[in-house]
Amino acid sequence: MIKTTYYQDMTRLNTFGMKVKARCFVEYDSVADLVDIEFEELARPVLHIGGGSNLLFTDDFKGTILHSKINFIEILEESSDCPSPVLVSVGAGVVFDDFCAWAAKEGLWGVENLSYIPGEVGASAVQNIGAYGVEVKDVIRTVYCYDTVEEEFVNFDVEDLGYGYRDSAFKDPEIKGRYIVTHVVFALSRTPQPKLDYGHLKAAVEPNGVTPEAIRKAIIKIRKEKLPETSVMGSAGSFFKNPVIGAEHFERIESAAKAELGQDYKVPHYDLPDGLVKVPAAWMIEQCGWKGRRSGGAAVWEKQPLVIVNYTGEAFPEEIIGLERRIVASVKAKFDIELHPEVEHI
Ligand SMILES: Cc1cc2nc3c(=O)[nH]c(=O)nc-3n(C[C@H](O)[C@H](O)[C@H](O)COP(=O)(O)OP(=O)(O)OC[C@H]3O[C@@H](n4cnc5c(N)ncnc54)[C@H](O)[C@@H]3O)c2cc1C
Repeated sequence: MIKTTYYQDMTRLNTFGMKVKARCFVEYDSVADLVDIEFEELARPVLHIGGGSNLLFTDDFKGTILHSKINFIEILEESSDCPSPVLVSVGAGVVFDDFCAWAAKEGLWGVENLSYIPGEVGASAVQNIGAYGVEVKDVIRTVYCYDTVEEEFVNFDVEDLGYGYRDSAFKDPEIKGRYIVTHVVFALSRTPQPKLDYGHLKAAVEPNGVTPEAIRKAIIKIRKEKLPETSVMGSAGSFFKNPVIGAEHFERIESAAKAELGQDYKVPHYDLPDGLVKVPAAWMIEQCGWKGRRSGGAAVWEKQPLVIVNYTGEAFPEEIIGLERRIVASVKAKFDIELHPEVEHI
């Protein structure tokens, strides 16, 4: 069934809670519905959303917003040979964490570390969501889509989707918006494959027995302690990407930090191939004094400075963007690094 609404209030359809309207909102609940939508006729621009948890609406949306309610989880194939994968097909409109909960209950390994990430299955394949040492590309087998240009169904194997850190071919500006994800086939496993190397996960899980359910539980607890519940305080998670810089640039940052904070001080970083260094944006934002600071209705989250929140629940997009700009300017001034948003500005 296709349902079209005009001047749809989007407040509850984006986790930042921006009070904006969409001129036209089209929701559908089956793969076949996509054939009946006249894409040429839709008011432009056209945007397909999931749970709206990686978006910042900067204004009312003047075109058409599409949303999938394709909602199924189905085991396609399971062989008794060990360790053959259990192939599971999941509709794009399924809440990703519902899928994680289902998998944990079934005793299936693969997505337990991705528990409690907001959003839906369709977007997970676009975003290549990741947490606690796992990215969704590790368990994706095939992504099924509707091509809105050729008006046909297509599918892509994981190898063809150019997956990288929070990145996929779907984000390529040349094709962005062309393909609508309808469902995703994941390769899960009944063979235990715990990934516990990240943070304090091992210590939190091992006493309770290592199962997908136990890992899921531990991760949900950690995430709840660190991140604001979007139902209580609007946000889109990590607002900025972690920048990657050259080794010389990093040395300059480190010696300035040692001069300021003491010779034993260590700047958090991850060494990458080719002499590149990834520096956590959260550390830089904190060093610039932003942690916990408010600016109008917006604020930097006190427990995780990478997250900008709709502190009052009434923040205007301009207030979020204003805070974003001030953070970017101060990080540039202090570290000579340009931060880029991870959150998509609409
Ligand atoms: C509190 C919080 C914590 C978070 N933690 C994490 C984390 O740990 N790891 C992580 O990776 N992310 C995290 N995120 C970001 C967010 O959860 C992910 O980016 C998620 O995949 C967004 O899903 P969504 O359904 O809300 O997509 P939306 O934000 O609605 O859309 C994201 C993108 O996907 C596209 N899209 C959506 N559905 C479809 C579809 N069916 N077909 C084609 N394109 C589509 C949209 O056009 C858009 O470009 C967090 C966000 C919040 C609010």
